[in-house]
Amino acid sequence: MTEKKAHDLVIIGGGPGGLAAGLYASRARMDTLLLEKAAYGGQMLTTFFIENYPGFPEGIAGFELADLMKKQTDLYGLQIQTAEVRGVVKEGNIFDIDTIEGTVRSRAVIVSTGADPDKLGVPGEERLAGRGVSYCATCDGALYRERTVAVVGGGDSAIEEALFLTRFADRIHVIHRRDELRATPISRERAFANEKIVFEWNTVLKEILGEDEVTGLLLENVKTGQTRKLAAAGVFIYVGITPQSSFLEDMVEKNEGGYIKTDLTMSSSVPGLFAIGDVRAESVRQVASAVGDGVTAAIYAYKYLVE
Ligand SMILES: Cc1cc2nc3c(=O)[nH]c(=O)nc-3n(C[C@H](O)[C@H](O)[C@H](O)COP(=O)(O)OP(=O)(O)OC[C@H]3O[C@@H](n4cnc5c(N)ncnc54)[C@H](O)[C@@H]3O)c2cc1C
Repeated sequence: MTEKKAHDLVIIGGGPGGLAAGLYASRARMDTLLLEKAAYGGQMLTTFFIENYPGFPEGIAGFELADLMKKQTDLYGLQIQTAEVRGVVKEGNIFDIDTIEGTVRSRAVIVSTGADPDKLGVPGEERLAGRGVSYCATCDGALYRERTVAVVGGGDSAIEEALFLTRFADRIHVIHRRDELRATPISRERAFANEKIVFEWNTVLKEILGEDEVTGLLLENVKTGQTRKLAAAGVFIYVGITPQSSFLEDMVEKNEGGYIKTDLTMSSSVPGLFAIGDVRAESVRQVASAVGDGVTAAIYAYKYLVE
């Protein structure tokens, strides 16, 4: 796919941010190419149900919202290619975007590569990944009908996914290192009211047990130091996320966490390179905010090219 001609705009990442930017850019008749390494939709594909995206009072399945966004970009001819971006360099006014399929050239770039779940780094996690260890209740929850599972974490993702798991599992142990949740009040209230959810406060997961599949967890109480085994068929880990910005190395300014710094127009420290959604510093990491960022970046990318 090595190309000589430069596109007006290349969007890296096809989550809600990238698709919204693609919609606006292709409607503005910019020659726009979106590069996505996996499937369009991003984290929406791992979200069972989205209740807080405006316009859908009944809520909407994550994959369905992804499909609707993609259909809307099709109407305006957004070009989408499957390719993982490995690096970006700017020579003069042109960006060379290195992908596993070859080099793509562009006059402006929007980075919308989102974020990936963090690993706990405990024994058994890597070995039993996909065999009881999961980072996506939406994808794997149905495998645990009438079983006992655990969720690690105390933020919104952990609690929302624990609530989702109550559709299948008989018992969900939420393992949290503190004695209160960080999740928003509405999620907390729902979780406390659900009889299937048991909270393991002040507790950390030390090891995931099992030969070929998860059979249990070794837990430690951080206050008393006491350890105990908990029988469980699965464990879902929600302990944080990492921005997917390492492929840019130090060509652009990032904060300590690796999130790309931008101004209010979504412009990064490199003129012509914009960053949006979960990969951007100060993002509130929601579908609606990623979409808003995408719209802003597409409009300012247009202005950048015209000026
Ligand atoms: C379990 C869970 C539940 C959630 N629930 C909600 C909810 O109810 N409501 C809500 O508003 N938000 C929710 N969120 C958050 C929301 O999904 C994200 O904020 C949103 O998807 C971020 O969009 P994005 O476009 O920035 O990135 P992402 O959705 O992360 O998309 C990034 C895309 O970039 C691609 N990519 C990454 N690196 C490269 C590369 N080098 N080359 C090419 N492509 C690349 C990825 O494959 C991915 O498709 C949830 C998230 C999770 C994990």
